[in-house]
Amino acid sequence: MKAVVKTRPEPGNVEYIEMPEPQAAPGHVVIEIRNAGVCGTDIHIFKSEYVIKPPVILGHEVCGTIVETGAGVTRWKVGDRVTVNPSAGRLCGKCRYCQVGAPFMCIDRAAVGSGMNGGFAKYLSVRQEIVLPLPESLDFETGALCEPFACAVQAVLELTIIRPGEVVAVSGPGPIGLMCAMLAKAYGARVVLLGTAKDAGRMELSKTLGIDVTVNVEEGHALNTVKDLTHGYGADVVLECAGAPASAAMCLDVVRKLGRYTQVGLFGAPFQIDLDKVILKQLHFQGSICHSWQTWDTTLRLLGDGVFDLRPLISNRLPLSRWEEAFQGVINKSETKVLLQPE
Ligand SMILES: [Zn+2]
Ligand SMILES: [Zn+2]
Repeated sequence: MKAVVKTRPEPGNVEYIEMPEPQAAPGHVVIEIRNAGVCGTDIHIFKSEYVIKPPVILGHEVCGTIVETGAGVTRWKVGDRVTVNPSAGRLCGKCRYCQVGAPFMCIDRAAVGSGMNGGFAKYLSVRQEIVLPLPESLDFETGALCEPFACAVQAVLELTIIRPGEVVAVSGPGPIGLMCAMLAKAYGARVVLLGTAKDAGRMELSKTLGIDVTVNVEEGHALNTVKDLTHGYGADVVLECAGAPASAAMCLDVVRKLGRYTQVGLFGAPFQIDLDKVILKQLHFQGSICHSWQTWDTTLRLLGDGVFDLRPLISNRLPLSRWEEAFQGVINKSETKVLLQPE
């Protein structure tokens, strides 16, 4: 089968090449992939900012149908429509984090699409425990958005306190930022979305998602806009989803004293920032990465019950062979979420 593979550790070195079709080992299932979303993490791997051991098939935001089950598979049958929790690809199963259902924190872990083969291919084989049922009402496009949505659900619903009527600033209108903004709206908050000129398309899209105010930070009005909305105090909550140093600095300025700051975007490198603001404003400073099993339960319920419609976030669908175009669209921000479809 053809797959999008990181072939060497150096930057670039992603190729669309022939790879062996996976077999269902004992306890494993083979999923025929219908859609796989391109994520910022794939770009980090492409640029070798996030280092993996090649060769590895990329892609971790997947959905499809089970076409083969290995010996001892009891939870799944051929024909089941499923998605996957990629962070739990391989776990030690014994550490404190495994015990409390926080797979991302496992001390000896491999993730689907980085530490082991992922879903930018026709078939993906994974152990049965990390497979999740796609709710009947969910189509195979939204199915590929369950994983990124779970990231937003953990950040906004589980780890950040937001109260109705509060002003929430979301910096970075990528797919995760837009999902965080949608979730903050669901709390009854007023949401200000901060982006740059390059984000124009995504900012425009956010208005159709019910986001109250969008600000191009390059025009220099972000702080004043937020102050105008909050009687001069600043945002009650900021969600930093850009993973950019200037955005983080802006978020520390925009948040009010005694406010809440949640870091969702990954920067990929250390940088200088004035953390005295965390003390002087006495902020609640929180990080959020990926999701727990609890998060998946909530995520699939919210999507299955139609509480959120993520389809507007899908800006393009491309055959897997055009992966490079999809990656470029994510890099230059012309795309929101691109889905790759195996041929
Ligand atoms: Zn992702
Ligand atoms: Zn563990």
